[in-house]
Amino acid sequence: MTRVLVLNCGSSSLRYRLFDGSDVLAKGLIQRIGEEGGDAAGHREALQRLMDTVDLTELAAVGHRVVHGGDRFTASTVVNDEVAATIEELIPLAPLHNPAALTGIEVARKLLPDVPQVAVFDTAFHATIPPEGVRWAIDREVAQRWGIRRYGFHGTSHAYVSRETARVLGRPVEDTNVITLHLGNGSSATAVAGGRSVATSMGLSPLSGLVMGTRSGDIDPSVVFHLHRVAGMSLDEIEDSLTRRGGLLGLTGDNDMRTVLERRASGDPEAALAFDVCCRRLREYVGSYLAVLGRADAITFTAGVGENSPDIRAGALGGLEALGIAIDPERNARNERIISPDGSPVTVCVVPTEEELEIAREARQAIGSGH
Ligand code: AMP
Repeated sequence: MTRVLVLNCGSSSLRYRLFDGSDVLAKGLIQRIGEEGGDAAGHREALQRLMDTVDLTELAAVGHRVVHGGDRFTASTVVNDEVAATIEELIPLAPLHNPAALTGIEVARKLLPDVPQVAVFDTAFHATIPPEGVRWAIDREVAQRWGIRRYGFHGTSHAYVSRETARVLGRPVEDTNVITLHLGNGSSATAVAGGRSVATSMGLSPLSGLVMGTRSGDIDPSVVFHLHRVAGMSLDEIEDSLTRRGGLLGLTGDNDMRTVLERRASGDPEAALAFDVCCRRLREYVGSYLAVLGRADAITFTAGVGENSPDIRAGALGGLEALGIAIDPERNARNERIISPDGSPVTVCVVPTEEELEIAREARQAIGSGH
């Protein structure tokens, strides 16, 4: 059996994709689950509807996207009662994301009891980051007791895209160093050395690092104390401000990069500044990861913004010829797979991400049926 169903459950949505090998047999999105006038009354009804409309026989596995694996899961894992209980214990680390994934897993275990369920974690690819890249300089007992460290996210995307980059370069993965820039609604940068993540920009949660649609990315943590003590904001208000009303939305009032780029093109100074802040942060991470890696063979852009915005790519990497990084304007404008000039020391790539395909591959590997 070669079919794998990939499920990505949000609190009120279920995104699915059915693969046979790398062929997509069916895909869809069931939305506004549990809401009045929504597509289904609950996740159980949503999956039941999927089973009624899509042929789910002959499944080798179901792959579930789980955002946070904490330090308990360093690889994709076949779900049993103990694994499900551990994912539940990790809810405090990802209160917005893990509960929905767990619901999806529980419903799928009930409705498809004979099919192995595999949890594929956004954090797992980053388990190879060395200790000095995940520890923060805080009280070691506090860090240990509460699991305060960098975990990193978007792992399936960084894993897929870094492997694809090696393929584009025609080099063995084991001998290829890549900086991957996943720029979508959520954004993160990762340094990949020989196929292993060695640094990434997101931390305990997906809030830190690059500027995102509604998330601030890096800020000085004392901003939180200041907003609480001086501005009188509650912790919930500060969290909301940084996670749902920060980023592009905070800087411009618009969270969609396309709108920000249009406003910038028509001379809007707020949008121009937001663009500059995004690009500046990208350059800071690229420079930092060049130093971590010592040698980069490629820098790869992916996800909605990374795959489609020549302006952001040029803004992030322009003027770095002295570091061996250059962009060919025509290749860049056409979103070509390689956008650096021939012979550049660092190849700059645009590689569309395929997170669901990677989850299917992981699920197959976890149940031992190879690729
Ligand atoms: P994702 O999370 O990967 O779906 O990416 C969503 C983001 O990609 C949104 O901010 C979109 O505005 C952005 N995006 C999609 N298409 C384009 C485009 N042609 N140019 C710039 N940004 C884009």
